[in-house]
Amino acid sequence: MMKPEYQKQIIKDYPEFFEYLTEGLKIHTNDNTIETVKELIEQEHLVLPIQFGFECGDGWYWLLKQTFKIVSDYCKWNKKPFPQITQIKEKYGSLNIYHYGSDEMVDGMIWMAEHLSNHICEDCGTNVNVGKTEGWIYTICENCYNKKETAKNLNWNKI
Ligand SMILES: [Zn+2]
Repeated sequence: MMKPEYQKQIIKDYPEFFEYLTEGLKIHTNDNTIETVKELIEQEHLVLPIQFGFECGDGWYWLLKQTFKIVSDYCKWNKKPFPQITQIKEKYGSLNIYHYGSDEMVDGMIWMAEHLSNHICEDCGTNVNVGKTEGWIYTICENCYNKKETAKNLNWNKI
């Protein structure tokens, strides 16, 4: 699971990708009912709008941030619809960004980010000496592989 601070930062910087949640979203807090993600963010009562949070390591934070930046700029400059992001997760060692509502250009940018994740350590974010484990697939660098408790019985191969 990505660090909550990182998740929060991305949602704060790019609320346009989570707009679909404002329809019908009612989150009850102690004192009132907040109806939009924007309000939620402003009041700092943020509950991650995506059901399970960002299910990937901190090492992909930079990749996500840069991808969202370029996608957001493209949509703004060209007046294209923002992708609505429903899930962000690691699957078989790759980043997966589930989304809908975007044009082919945005789909391509997201596709490229997913591809690049195969060359970036999911734990520390380096692209040096990155490999994959066998069986349960982690995309991690050799240093992180040696430190990772859950990977110690898996073979690691440099990409
Ligand atoms: Zn690493």
